[in-house]
Amino acid sequence: MEKNWSGFYKKNRAERLDIINEKILDESSFELLEKNKVLDFETANNMVENVVGTFSLPFSVVPNFVVNNIAYCVPFVTEEPSVVAACSNAGKIISSCGGFKTVIHDRKMIGQVALYDVENFSLAKDTIMTNSEAIIKIANEAYPSIVKRGGGARELEVKVLNEDDVTFVVVYLIVDTLEAMGANMLNTMLEAIKPFLEQLTGGNSLMAILSNYATRSIVSSKCEIPFDKLSKEDGKEIAKKMELAAKFAKMDVYRAATHNKGIFNGIDSVVIASGNDWRAVEAACQSYAAKNFRYEGLSTWTCDYEKEVLIGELSLPMPIASVGGSIGINPSVKVARSLMKNPDAKTLAGIIVSVGLAQNFSAVRALVSTGIQKGHMKLHAKSLAILAGATNEQLEEVVEKLQKEKHMNLETAKKILTQFK
Ligand code: NDP
Repeated sequence: MEKNWSGFYKKNRAERLDIINEKILDESSFELLEKNKVLDFETANNMVENVVGTFSLPFSVVPNFVVNNIAYCVPFVTEEPSVVAACSNAGKIISSCGGFKTVIHDRKMIGQVALYDVENFSLAKDTIMTNSEAIIKIANEAYPSIVKRGGGARELEVKVLNEDDVTFVVVYLIVDTLEAMGANMLNTMLEAIKPFLEQLTGGNSLMAILSNYATRSIVSSKCEIPFDKLSKEDGKEIAKKMELAAKFAKMDVYRAATHNKGIFNGIDSVVIASGNDWRAVEAACQSYAAKNFRYEGLSTWTCDYEKEVLIGELSLPMPIASVGGSIGINPSVKVARSLMKNPDAKTLAGIIVSVGLAQNFSAVRALVSTGIQKGHMKLHAKSLAILAGATNEQLEEVVEKLQKEKHMNLETAKKILTQFK
C-alpha cells in the first residue's frame, strides 16, 4: 500500500508514529521507537571508557526517498535545524522525477604496512609481489571467519615513497570485508603479515593499519530533474546557476568546504543513525575531495539543454557497514535500520550517497535563488525562543514576533517572553 506522507511535518508525534507503524517498522522496532527506548547506561558503559551518562539528539525521518525505484523512510540524527526539512523537500522533488540511481563500483577496504630502513627498494618491491599469494594466505589465516563467509584478502599493491632523506616501502592489502566496515578485520590481518614483510624486505615495519581513504568502496548517485521542477518561472536559469555553483565549488576552496559541509549535513545524519563510524566516513570523503591535489566540491550539477533537465552526480567512498561496531548494540540503530528495511551494506551506501546529493541540491538551489537565510531564519528563531525559555504553548507566537524584530537574538527573544508574564 502506498503511504501518504503529505503534511508529515505538521503532524504530532502520535500521528507520525501511526503513519510509520503502518507497514514500515517491524513490531519490536516499533515498540522501541514508541517507548523511546534508547541506549541504557549499562550498555553505554560497556561500549566506551569513563561513561557518566548518555547523550541524546533528535531522531527524525525523511520519508518517501526514492533510490533505485524503492521508496525509503530514511532515519536522520542531527541537531541542526532545517537539515531534515531541506532533504525532505529535495527528496520529494527528485522522487517525483524518477528518484536517485546508484552504482556501487566496488566494496573492499584497504590497509597498509609501512616499512622503513629497507636497503634495496626495488628488490623489496619485486620480492613482495612475487610472494603476494603467500602474504594473502597469511592475512586470510589471521581472520578465517571472513573467509568462511565468502570474503577475505584479495590483492596486494606495493609503492615506494621517497621524500627528502626518507623512503618507505608501503604494502597495501585489499580485503573484501563483506557486510562489515572491516577496521578490526584489516588491522588483525595487517599485523599478521607484518613479520613476514620484514623478513622478505630486511626492513622494519613502522605501522600496520587500515586506511580510511576507502577508494575501493566508491559509490555514485545520480538524479535528473526537469527544469520546470526547479521553478515554474525560471527553472532554466536556476539550473544554469546550479551548474555554475558546482563549478565554483571545484575552483574555490572557501566555497568547496561549505559546499561539502552541506553534503555532510545529510550524510552524517544517516551514518550516525545507522550506527556507523562517521569519523571514518568523513575521513574517507574529505580526503577524496582532495584527490586532484586541491580540495574540491564533491558534487556536480550539469544542464542538458536539449532534454531540459539538470543532472546531479555525487561519487564518494562509502565504507559503511550493516554489522559490526556498535550496530547491533544500540537500540536506536535497530529502529533506524528497520525504517530502511534493514539494508545490506551496499544498499545503505547507495541511500547515504543519495542523501548527500539531495542535501546538496537543496542548499545549492536555495543559494542561487532565494538565498539560504529565508528558510533558516524561522528555524533559528525557534531555537532562540526555546533557549530563552518559551514553553510549547508560547513557542509559535514568540517565533512569529521574533521574526518581525530587527535584531533576532536571544536578548530580543527574552524580551518578547516577558510580555507573556
Ligand atoms: P567488527 O570488529 O565488529 O567486525 C565485524 C563483525 O561482524 C565480526 O565479528 C563478524 O563476525 C561479524 N559479521 C557477521 N556477519 C558478517 C558479514 N556478513 N560480513 C562481515 N562481518 C560479519 O567491526 P569491523 O572490523 O568492521 O570494524 C569496525 C569498528 O572498528 C568500528 O567500530 C570502528 O569505529 C572501529 N575502528 C575504526 C578504525 C578506523 O576507522 N581507522 C580503527 C580502529 C577501529 P566474524 O568475526 O565471525 O567474522
